[in-house]
Amino acid sequence: MTVRPCLRFAPSPNGELHLGHALSAIIGHDLATRLGGRFLVRIEDIDIQRTREAHVAAILDDLSWLGLTWEQPVLRQSRHFADYRAAADRLAAMGVLYPCFATRAEIEAQTVATSAPRDPDGAPLYPGLHKTLSPAEIAARRAAGQPMAWRLDMGKALQLVRTKLAGEPLAFTELDTNGRAERVAANPERWGDVVIVRKDTPTSYHLSVVVDDARQGITHVTRGLDLYAATDVHRLLQVLLGLPEPRYRHHRLITGSDGRKLAKSAGDRSLADWRAAGATAVEVRRMIGV
Ligand code: GLU
Repeated sequence: MTVRPCLRFAPSPNGELHLGHALSAIIGHDLATRLGGRFLVRIEDIDIQRTREAHVAAILDDLSWLGLTWEQPVLRQSRHFADYRAAADRLAAMGVLYPCFATRAEIEAQTVATSAPRDPDGAPLYPGLHKTLSPAEIAARRAAGQPMAWRLDMGKALQLVRTKLAGEPLAFTELDTNGRAERVAANPERWGDVVIVRKDTPTSYHLSVVVDDARQGITHVTRGLDLYAATDVHRLLQVLLGLPEPRYRHHRLITGSDGRKLAKSAGDRSLADWRAAGATAVEVRRMIGV
């Protein structure tokens, strides 16, 4: 039996959509249509402090205005923290997570002091602070109310993955614009001991994205090239958790005239601004070349 293709657009509702989001949503929607598949919208609102209901409503309104349609219900990640917690518990039971109390400032200072390497996004690779805390120290810090994250022990995780894959390399399938598939080697080690459960919310982007892509039966993950390297971590988590492997299509990014990624915070026009200025959905498509 062949599985019906299923694609998704998964915005984080911490601001207005801009042309880059429009491109991502349209590419996913149009590919789903071409494949005779399903198209879903998922609101990635794990960042409860930054989520605004007005943004969620505005995102859905912008997508409708673009002429896109999607299946109901729209999944809200904030309603599924228990599922991410369960996935984190499974990882913890495999012995590949450890608690971490280090602050961003401590990690940055240590990284600068030792000229330690950084991950593909430029953030410090976790320098191992607190990696060997005793159970008594962990209990004392927790009792003192110190915020705690859970990190992946990348070395242990890779070892387990090697066993699970029995000699097959960790890799993912990337589709180009013509639909040609290429097998790409994944290098999660370049991310170091990534955070799996954040201090401020009971999950992380990496964990919820793999749990939900599996839960929703996503067969093709379409998203911007800015998340290409993150696929390394996603494939690792999929293998550890025994989740199915989707195919990936990372698309070009829309950049400003100076080559940087569009961002409302940098003063780039949002989709709502374009709408208010009288642009039509057809004109937006033309502007972004889809
Ligand atoms: N929520 C992520 C973002 O807005 C996208 C996640 C994904 O497509 O994997 O950047």
